[in-house]
Amino acid sequence: MSGGREVVVAPASGFCGGVAAAVKKALNVARNRRRGNIFLEGELVHNGAVSGQLSALGMRPLQRDSVVSREDTIIIRAHGISPERRFYLESFGCKIVDCTCPLVRRIARTIEANKCKKIILLGDRNHAEIEGLCGYSGNIRVCENLAELARCIDSVCVDYKNNVNVCKNQDPDLGETDDWVIVCQSTLDVNFLDAAGVLCKKKHFPAEIFDTVCPATKARQCGLEALKSCDAAVVAGGFHSANTRRLFEKIGAWVPRVFWVEDAAQAAEIDLAPYKKIGIAAGASTPRDVLRKIFDEISKKIA
Ligand code: SF4
Repeated sequence: MSGGREVVVAPASGFCGGVAAAVKKALNVARNRRRGNIFLEGELVHNGAVSGQLSALGMRPLQRDSVVSREDTIIIRAHGISPERRFYLESFGCKIVDCTCPLVRRIARTIEANKCKKIILLGDRNHAEIEGLCGYSGNIRVCENLAELARCIDSVCVDYKNNVNVCKNQDPDLGETDDWVIVCQSTLDVNFLDAAGVLCKKKHFPAEIFDTVCPATKARQCGLEALKSCDAAVVAGGFHSANTRRLFEKIGAWVPRVFWVEDAAQAAEIDLAPYKKIGIAAGASTPRDVLRKIFDEISKKIA
């Protein structure tokens, strides 16, 4: 608190266990490298500072024209990949280090266990995690929002309530079964999942819903409650980080002015003069030292 102004940091901000473990594993690969190149299959985690650190250690993105030898190592991103992609990477015959978060693997297992059913996957269709998960079943439809889910249900249901012609089977990509399950991206907005449950009930859509939002995501979304009384908030994290975007969107419903920054230099550019109580929240892929620098910068500005 300074001159009646204060900075509040949301609980559970910054690196989650899955991201911390992935980064640690990748750094260990770099430290223990004897020979060969290290390639990254996708961005390890969606954060520019982490990507810069790995790049400085000589890790390179695996590209279409990359020449991979048996002495090289490929690191699989925390968001995971499809079985087909894994099979392709294994064909190089080099060492594979899998940094997929165990909680993303758990979602993949849930999909695999239900692959004879029709699956609705709630999440961002262009996100790496969803792209990887879609490879675990041929019966998946992705819905990014409630309107898409409603359309999806309407397109397959005639009348579940009266058990009449329960499925039109209009989608040739989906199997013959009438059993449906709903699974979600690990970083989904928990309110979306709740609303999906309400919608299914309302439409008498008998899907089994698996709450696969990870505990770290729930803790970070729940932590935003601590910022409700702020008149401005700064969300810290990569601009292409899905979980950071979710925090940015959610806090915007409560706090009149929200800024999104990736680092302390961007935080230094923000005009916080009109605000008294400033909240800070950071995505699960934001390193703690980046969060600390942003906190210091904002504290300096309001001192
Ligand atoms: S946000 Fe959740 S699923 Fe994603 S890496 Fe962290 S713990 Fe794993």
